[in-house]
Amino acid sequence: MAAPVGDQRFRRGYIGGEFVELEGQERIPVLEASTGEVLAEVTEASPSDVDRAVRAAQGALPDWAAVPADERAAALRSWRQVMEERAEEFATSISREVGTPIRHSRSIQVGNPLGILAHTADALTSMTLSEHLGNCLVVREPVGVVGAITPWNYPLQQVVAKVAPALAAGCAVVLKASEVAPLTAFILAETAGASGLPAGVLNVLIGRGEVTGEALVTHPLVDKLSFTGSTRAGRRIAELAGSLVRPVTLELGGKSASVVLDDADLATAAKFAVYNAFLNSGQTCTALTRLVVPRARIREAEEVAAATAAKLVPGDPLDEATRLGPLASQVQLERVRGYIRLGLEEGARLVCGGAEPPAGRERGYFVQPTIFSEVDPGMTIAQEEIFGPVLCIIGHDGDDHALEIANGTPYGLAAAVWSADQQRALAVARRLRAGTVEVNGGAFSTEAPFGGVRQSGYGREFGRYGIEEFLAPKSLQL
Ligand code: NAD
Repeated sequence: MAAPVGDQRFRRGYIGGEFVELEGQERIPVLEASTGEVLAEVTEASPSDVDRAVRAAQGALPDWAAVPADERAAALRSWRQVMEERAEEFATSISREVGTPIRHSRSIQVGNPLGILAHTADALTSMTLSEHLGNCLVVREPVGVVGAITPWNYPLQQVVAKVAPALAAGCAVVLKASEVAPLTAFILAETAGASGLPAGVLNVLIGRGEVTGEALVTHPLVDKLSFTGSTRAGRRIAELAGSLVRPVTLELGGKSASVVLDDADLATAAKFAVYNAFLNSGQTCTALTRLVVPRARIREAEEVAAATAAKLVPGDPLDEATRLGPLASQVQLERVRGYIRLGLEEGARLVCGGAEPPAGRERGYFVQPTIFSEVDPGMTIAQEEIFGPVLCIIGHDGDDHALEIANGTPYGLAAAVWSADQQRALAVARRLRAGTVEVNGGAFSTEAPFGGVRQSGYGREFGRYGIEEFLAPKSLQL
């Protein structure tokens, strides 16, 4: 996708089914992750632009809510079809603005949202939207106008994970996509229009959180908020929403652990841990960034992890051979390098990598894949979300100790467990405080509920559980 800086498409907002000029005057540059050069410029939506978009959604809501569920499901399937036709354009755009290697952009960044749309449509047609209880007919109605706010790391998936179930439920949406990687949202808006989704059911704006985001969060006509991003921003949004008694779904950060029990195939577990932790350069909310292994086998884990990381040579995200791209932004680069320096200061053992840029990759936002070992579970690098390709190897002294380490952060998004005994693995999985647990390498699914506990947020996305976030039950007493 060529995205000339002056491309007018990206300077607009998508409101009421059209790309329109905005009142906002602020321009935000969008930078290419591998070079730092300007890819495009977007216009920050002002509070009055937000008001216009919310009113467009409110206007479209009654007719859309009245569309029978199977027709709404059919509309989602048509939309998916149009998105699939432009899959390569989405993938290239994401590789350029986020830095994801093109292979992973195709399979994950674009493949997962296509899966989410299909599963949402299927879930909607199989859901019971009314039932008799006692003397009542209980109907499940759309909650109304949804304000959706999304991050940059999986810019299509995070959007589709909110918009698809909200539309399935019969809601109308105003999306404020990330200002760091906003281009995908424009292509998405084009596909929504081309697929015949009614005007106003999806409106798309870009802008910084404090300006456009907070205007949306506090707009009087917004009925429900769905947010994915950092715990810091989620806390602020929950505070604002709380004062308005406005329901909010929060999908926040994580510091997930991969627990290897003493009977497990350590080599396989360590390889999986590295690929998982370094996927999308570690900028994945579910990244398993702590590898918790039997203390006696820590050297073996280091060797396998280092050999696996050595295969991940940072490269151009648009090169088919690349498996590790740059980070998404300068802010990210400074943050990740800062944590690597901190790990050294805290006394963790550096197995590979470091804070200097990888050889020959001084331009763009590249960082070396980095592994620390003999990490104390209380160290900052083992407690805080780094959001870069940094893995911490931690020794444990048995199942209970491993669980104490794994559950010993404020987060609870994801986890993994490895054991030769599936029942033992399942028993540990049940004791892990996380919304999703990978058992012996079980694959991620966009069909089952996804979300966190504790400071990783509340509410669920995907399939039936995702749609339920946007429905309110009403009891009709007969
Ligand atoms: P971020 O919190 O900085 O921004 C996320 C979005 O919120 C952006 O659109 C931003 O403009 C907006 N925002 C920021 N402050 C706001 C405010 N006060 N009011 C309204 N909107 C506001 O996060 P990020 O850096 O874009 O994304 C990385 C974070 O997202 C990581 O912590 C990661 O773990 C998390 N994440 C979580 C999930 C999940 O499903 N749990 C998925 C992906 C990313």
